Amino acid sequence: MTATESGARARLTATGFARELEVERFEPAPPGPGQVLIEVEACGVCYRDLIDRRGGFPFLQLPITPGHEAAGRVVAVGPPVDGAPAFEVGLRVGTMHRDSCGECAACRAGSTSLCASAAWVFGILADGGYATHLVAPARALYPLPDALAPEHAAVMHCTFGTAYRDLVTLGRLAAGERVVVTGANGGVGSAGVQIAHRLGAEVVAIVRDARHEPRLRALGADHVIVDPGSGFHKHPVLASRRAEVVLDATGASTFNSSLRSLAVGGRAVVVGNIAEQQASLNLGLVITSGLTIVGGSGATPAEMAALLALHAARPFDVPIEDVLPLESADLAQRRLLGGGVFGRLVLRPAQRGGS
Ligand SMILES: [Zn+2]
Ligand SMILES: [Zn+2]
Repeated sequence: MTATESGARARLTATGFARELEVERFEPAPPGPGQVLIEVEACGVCYRDLIDRRGGFPFLQLPITPGHEAAGRVVAVGPPVDGAPAFEVGLRVGTMHRDSCGECAACRAGSTSLCASAAWVFGILADGGYATHLVAPARALYPLPDALAPEHAAVMHCTFGTAYRDLVTLGRLAAGERVVVTGANGGVGSAGVQIAHRLGAEVVAIVRDARHEPRLRALGADHVIVDPGSGFHKHPVLASRRAEVVLDATGASTFNSSLRSLAVGGRAVVVGNIAEQQASLNLGLVITSGLTIVGGSGATPAEMAALLALHAARPFDVPIEDVLPLESADLAQRRLLGGGVFGRLVLRPAQRGGS
């Protein structure tokens, strides 16, 4: 295809759910310096898309095309810039949450997902992947192997990549350690259960609903605690032996129990706050137990390469609830909003194949 071929994209024109996402025709822009044009094979519909749509981020630009979980092929390349990855036409790539400058302290330390100068934030500041075509800086993308199914390729960064960074880079989880995963039925949670199990850790999965238990045991959870009231640290499994690491994918409602589940010197990685509420913090507990609390979001290209190598050696179970056409973007978001979705809903904007 050429950059002048016409495409389609979903548009959010106002915050909230009173208006539907509209799907419109558009002419994809040619890629600028350091950018590429991607033909989008698939884009995940993430819970964060709903937070974006509600106006949860004050910097949201409108109108905008949602979606930060896109995978596709490079179909045009802009002029090269120093330091940016040189992706060629035909390469398969996936989006990270945002770009990075390569020069700030975070970038120089290898933590590109914490770049202080990131300006290209998909779905908030820049058009995202609910579209047949997407223009993006190469620095906001990572290479994907051809063997991955499009729907798996799309969601790999935001679920497994995030969980990998949280457990390995930030949590420093080691074989033989015990890890608690809250929100274990969610995208990051169920990925975290599988990665922790693969690392040789003992996994304690926390869910609100007992019907998730068999599935989580099959994914590698050694213990499943069903806790609708957030007192899971009192459960005999955790009261008898505290954990070295907590991956908290739920947030305010589980945070207190998460900290109380930790052994002395334990590490808490906070990755989600689904109710967008504030949590209170028992500082005495943090001080006397010497706890570390760190926030996680997204992953770097190096972390994605390590995660994809693990997946290639023995594929993880990537839960996909349904695959839908771009025209169903609004429907997909409303379905996620309604609850009860175990795996990801994925849009397939370009299904022509071979192009
Ligand atoms: Zn996401
Ligand atoms: Zn930077």
